[in-house]
Amino acid sequence: MKSAEIIDLRSDTVTKPSNEMRKAMAFAEVGDDVFGEDPTVNLLEEKIADLLGKEAALYMASGVMSNQVALKTHTVPGDEVIVEKESHIFNYETAAPSLLSGVQLNPIPGIRGIIEANQVESAIRPAVYYMMPTKLVCLENTHNRGGGTIYPLEKIVEIETVVRQHNLKFHLDGARLWNASVASGISLKEYATHFDSVSVCLSKGLGAPVGSVLAGSKEYISLARRFRKIFGGGMRQAGVLAAAGLYAIEHNVARLAEDHEKAKMFAGIIAESPRIEVSVEHVETNIVIFKYISKNVSAENFIAEMKKNGVLLSAGSAGKIRAVTHLDVSREQVRIAAEKIATYNA
Ligand SMILES: *Cc1c(COP(=O)(O)O)cnc(C)c1O
Repeated sequence: MKSAEIIDLRSDTVTKPSNEMRKAMAFAEVGDDVFGEDPTVNLLEEKIADLLGKEAALYMASGVMSNQVALKTHTVPGDEVIVEKESHIFNYETAAPSLLSGVQLNPIPGIRGIIEANQVESAIRPAVYYMMPTKLVCLENTHNRGGGTIYPLEKIVEIETVVRQHNLKFHLDGARLWNASVASGISLKEYATHFDSVSVCLSKGLGAPVGSVLAGSKEYISLARRFRKIFGGGMRQAGVLAAAGLYAIEHNVARLAEDHEKAKMFAGIIAESPRIEVSVEHVETNIVIFKYISKNVSAENFIAEMKKNGVLLSAGSAGKIRAVTHLDVSREQVRIAAEKIATYNA
């Protein structure tokens, strides 16, 4: 099958830079960013700090780097960090918190990725010498493995109250905070104001080929800048990459609503099949999690079968299948993919 006929719903990270974005990259003004002299990187950092209502921001090579520098900057070795059990930090960052920061994660189970303030409260260690100090709480918005779930603002506020009462730090993995904001109508700033640090990705639904940004106070970001260098993330003429990020925040944020609409349509079509288990009401953004109900066909088999049919999907947790809509799949392609899934019968 020719690649043009393949409908790739594995992730919104498969998006490729458009010609216009490539032009912006090609003509970007650059300098040596390790010396703080790349005007395009500086502009991107300023713009994102401003969008998030933070004093400063730092351009990162990836979302993992951004989260890991965030953790390193908030903690010392031997600390404990509270995360949700299905979170990206716990599942997809290859034990980096233990390797790079020497911290232990305390994963607590959420519902579609959402944890409650009382769960956070009971996970905080008492201040006794034979236990590790709880230092940091991390949330994820939208929640990836939870199915693109939007973190309800009131729950963030309740958790923040616990965090402040116990003098902890509060980090947001906002890889898809853009999606949460577009879908809920709550501004990035309104979400970010509750956290000490916020990481956002430019390389997901926004369509940039590379890049994430970590934002926080001036003091926090200047320490984070040192850890970014230690982790090997000091880049030189990074403006060619940052230009893609600037283009993305200018042109590709509002259009995320189309991805959300496509995901809802997709879920609605596959829900028609008696062999598919999907909760249409829980499709809040651009991620659809579903199950193929069959004794003989595992999620892996189903994904392989769909691949033969020209539809690429990815595996979720516990036998679930994940489809993600993005700017490189049209409404029509999403409809075709959904119909192939709905009519598949093994
Ligand atoms: C994609 C993603 C990241 C960062 O991953 P990278 O591949 O390093 O860009 C972090 N958190 C969440 C929730 C993500 O979905």
